[in-house]
Amino acid sequence: MKLRRHVVVVGGGFGGLSVARALEAAPVRVTLIDKSNHHLFQPLLYQVAMAGLTPGEIAVPIRSVVRRQDNVRVLLAEVRGIDLAARRISTRECAPIEYDFLVLAPGAVNSYFGHDEWARVAPGLKDLDDAVEIRRRVLLAFEAAEREPDPIVQRRMLTFVVIGAGPTGVELAGAIAELATFVLSRDFRAVHPDQTRVVLVEAGPRVLASFEPETSERARRTLEQMGIEIRTGVRVTGIDPTGVTLGGERIDSSTVLWAAGVRASPLVAALGIETDRAGRVPVEADCALPGHPEAFCIGDAAVFIPAGTTAPLPGTSPVAMQQGRFVARAIKRAIDGDARETFAYVDKGSMATIGRSRAVAEIGGIRLGGFLAWMAWLVVHIFYLIDFRNRLLVLIDWAWSYFTYRRGSRLITGHRLNAGTPGEAGTPGLGPPVAGTTVAPLAPTRESSEEASR
Ligand SMILES: Cc1cc2nc3c(=O)[nH]c(=O)nc-3n(C[C@H](O)[C@H](O)[C@H](O)COP(=O)(O)OP(=O)(O)OC[C@H]3O[C@@H](n4cnc5c(N)ncnc54)[C@H](O)[C@@H]3O)c2cc1C
Repeated sequence: MKLRRHVVVVGGGFGGLSVARALEAAPVRVTLIDKSNHHLFQPLLYQVAMAGLTPGEIAVPIRSVVRRQDNVRVLLAEVRGIDLAARRISTRECAPIEYDFLVLAPGAVNSYFGHDEWARVAPGLKDLDDAVEIRRRVLLAFEAAEREPDPIVQRRMLTFVVIGAGPTGVELAGAIAELATFVLSRDFRAVHPDQTRVVLVEAGPRVLASFEPETSERARRTLEQMGIEIRTGVRVTGIDPTGVTLGGERIDSSTVLWAAGVRASPLVAALGIETDRAGRVPVEADCALPGHPEAFCIGDAAVFIPAGTTAPLPGTSPVAMQQGRFVARAIKRAIDGDARETFAYVDKGSMATIGRSRAVAEIGGIRLGGFLAWMAWLVVHIFYLIDFRNRLLVLIDWAWSYFTYRRGSRLITGHRLNAGTPGEAGTPGLGPPVAGTTVAPLAPTRESSEEASR
């Protein structure tokens, strides 16, 4: 019997999973390795961070995605080393694994541009743990403000700073403003939504810089209508548990979120190939590593510059998925002895959501805004959720949330509740009970009719 070639895929994200699925009918055995047991739909992470969805609605066990694919074996392990010459990878958990073909798709990690110490006070949003931690911090900030008698301290607790005005920063800022306006206004007594301050900080000249200037301007107007303060052209020079320093300006805040940048997974550094400034490894026209036609790198960890251009492809899920399908085909062609092809990216457009019924989209030459763009965003994101159960649950949950403004997942979890003190490490913890402490009075204006309508 002819021995099947062994394809090792590192990463079960958008890129890696696309490779494994596209190899379903191929005469290969596939080992899919991921350090986490689930495939994560990152575009909806901010919804978990802002208590709109639960983690289980945007993630699915990798095993269950490929359960009907007999030629795929899934390993929960962290790849630590890659020996391209010996065609072997090493992990922390298993014996070394040899391959005939290797596909690296380990994605990206948060980047603090040399200020890793900011990670503790200003969490980024890259995985489910990040999202649950952000949710915890934002909800605890409201809880702490509800108890706080000192208006200056309360103001700091109700000030949220989001650093980075790309799609993730814009989504987070919009969602915090909505959380305060529509949801928490109904459940809290001593704090009002209009006391909440959301500041979006961007070093570049405009928000959503990857979009056309007209779209970017539209997004800026929408954010401002939602009450969000936008600071463009300003660099963050310091972040600590009580706020952010922007050159000469200080913003007091107990919740700072980082959405300013990512860099390639540190795993690609193990290749010993020179990377770009974002740590991404350059690949050839067929997504293979230079000098290694049997080893590929795709998605956020790779830098692919289409022929005749100077701009690398963006770090988005369509790029990763299209490269994944292309590489699966390249492997099949290599086994059949066919010539290599060149990867060509098909750009189907870009979208960013700003809030409930608010988004911007660029599809071909068409620019959309408002409700229409939001509907387009909703349909695309539901469609691409990886398995049907998720799609249906998310749709129902969104519909419920949309029509009732209720949040199904406003649970504070992920830490021992009494561990922190207000403001510690940027997190308003519950703090120890203090004898004789006063709490904020009830707001006198709250109408009983509003109570009844909750
Ligand atoms: C908050 C957020 C919002 C986003 N919104 C959008 C959007 O709206 N539209 C869009 O197109 N794109 C969006 N993106 C970008 C998109 O998610 C990425 O471009 C895409 O996930 C890249 O796919 P990938 O396969 O390269 O990496 P990923 O999907 O990140 O998958 C990488 C996988 O590799 C695993 N891994 C990493 N290192 C190792 C290791 N050493 N050993 C084993 N496993 C490892 C990880 O656990 C992970 O499962 C968003 C990203 C984020 C963070």
